[in-house]
Amino acid sequence: MAHIPERMCVACRKMRPQNELIRFVRTDGGVKIDMNKKLFGRGAYICKDIGCIHLAAKKRGIERHFKCAVAREVYDEAEKLV
Ligand SMILES: [Zn+2]
Repeated sequence: MAHIPERMCVACRKMRPQNELIRFVRTDGGVKIDMNKKLFGRGAYICKDIGCIHLAAKKRGIERHFKCAVAREVYDEAEKLV
């Protein structure tokens, strides 16, 4: 059985398999959603759950994880994925 790596959601702080999470990456052009698992760099994760995305937006979970600004549109874009 293949081992699926688990990552922690920045909103609810639960560990989940990567395929149940949306990955965000800090790039030179700002924080982006890693749609195709192609972006390199440090990642942050949020559950594919509208509640977690709202909570992360409210608590600025990704900002705190990367210690940088995150465009509001990044959270809006994540909402469209759930
Ligand atoms: Zn979560």
